[in-house]
Amino acid sequence: MNLPNLAEGVAIERAVTLLEELCAISSASGDADGIRSCAGRLGAELEAAGFTVAIDDEPDAAGRVQPVMVARTGSEATGHLLLVGHLDTVLPAVEPRRLDDRLVGTGALDMKGGFAALIGALSARGAGGSAVPDGLTLVAVPDEEVGGPISERAMRRWGSGARAVLVLEPGQAIGDGETIVTGRRGLSVWRLEASGRAAHSGLAYAEGRSALAAAAEWAAAVQGLSEAGTGPTVNVGRIIGGDSEFVRELGEEHRFIGTSQRLNVVPDRCLAEGEARYLRPEDRAPVLAEMRRLADASAARWGVEMSFQEVERILPVPPTSTGAALAERLVAAAAADGWTLELEPDRGGVSFPNFLPEPAAVPVLDGLGPVGEGMHTREEYVSLQSLERRIRLIAQLLGMLTETFS
Ligand SMILES: [Zn+2]
Repeated sequence: MNLPNLAEGVAIERAVTLLEELCAISSASGDADGIRSCAGRLGAELEAAGFTVAIDDEPDAAGRVQPVMVARTGSEATGHLLLVGHLDTVLPAVEPRRLDDRLVGTGALDMKGGFAALIGALSARGAGGSAVPDGLTLVAVPDEEVGGPISERAMRRWGSGARAVLVLEPGQAIGDGETIVTGRRGLSVWRLEASGRAAHSGLAYAEGRSALAAAAEWAAAVQGLSEAGTGPTVNVGRIIGGDSEFVRELGEEHRFIGTSQRLNVVPDRCLAEGEARYLRPEDRAPVLAEMRRLADASAARWGVEMSFQEVERILPVPPTSTGAALAERLVAAAAADGWTLELEPDRGGVSFPNFLPEPAAVPVLDGLGPVGEGMHTREEYVSLQSLERRIRLIAQLLGMLTETFS
C-alpha cells in the first residue's frame, strides 16, 4: 500500500500526540480509575476509526473490579483477528517529554506505544482510502504486569476461534534493526519428593538412606538434560533437604542453618522444585519422561523413595507455518521500507499467546509494538523512528491479513 506522504505524516503525528496523552494518564496495575481513563481515551480513538467499544468490569486476583476494553469491527460471523495489549504499567505516571527521537514516558514502551502504533496504522490506512478491516477484535487488559487472571481469562475467551493473534507488546532493538516475536516457550512446573531413612551419622551411618544425596544427584543430572539452541531446558529452582522435621517445618527450623545442630543425622527428606521449558509441544513428554526415569534410577541407587510430578503446565507458542509465512512477508515489507526486521522465533518469557486455548493452532505475531529501552523504569522511552516504522508495518500487516483471510 502506497500512502500519500502527507496523509502518512498526519497519521504519525496523531499517533505521537495520542501516545503522549496516554503516557500522561497514570495507569499502574491496580489503579482501576486510571486504567479506565486510559481505556476511555484509547476507546475514543477506536470509535473514531469505526470500532464498537465496550469497557466492562471484571474482578482481579484480589477480587477488586478492573476495566477491560473490547473493541470490535464488523460482524462476528466470520471469526476474528485478535489484537492484544495491556493498559497497566508498573509505575504510576510522571509527565512525559520528548527528547530528540525519544518519547520518554511511563509505559511509552511497555506498552502504550503499541496501541499508538495501531491507531496510527488505522488512520494511515483510512487516509490511504482503505476501509477498516472487518472482524478485528482488540482486547486491552488491566493486569498483565502483575500476571493477573483477567489477562489469562481474556486470552482463553477471545483466543478461541481467532484466525490470527497480533500482540502489540514491544519488539526489541538489535543493532540498526528491530525484531518481532514469532515463538515463545512454554513450561512445565515440576516437583520431586524424596524420602529415605534417618540414622545417626556417627553411630549408625550404614543404616541411613540419604534422600538429600539422591535428590542432589538427580538435580545435577536433570539440569544436564538442558540443550543449547532451540531444545528444552531444565532448571532446578530450589532444593531443600535435611531431616524430615527440618524440611516440614522449614519456616521455624531454618534457625539451624549456620549451626552444627542436627548435622549428625543422615537426611531422610528432600524436596526439589523447578521448571522445564520447551518451544515445541512435542518436546514436553520426552523431557518429563527422562526426568522420571532418572528419579527411578537415583531412588534405586540410594535406596530411597522418589516421586516426580508435573504440577502446572503453560503451553508453548511454536512458530506455525502460516505465522512464519506472514512474518516473512513483514520482513520483506520492512526491507522495502528501508529498515531491517528480524524474527525472534524462540523468546523465553511467557506472554499473552501462551494462554490461548491452542497456541500451536493459530498464527501468532508478537512484539509488533515499537522498540525503546528502560522498561519499568523512570528512564523508559520509545523510539519515535520505531513508532513510524511500526505504523507502516502494522498498516501493511492489516492489509495482508484482510486479503489472506477474506
Ligand atoms: Zn508489557
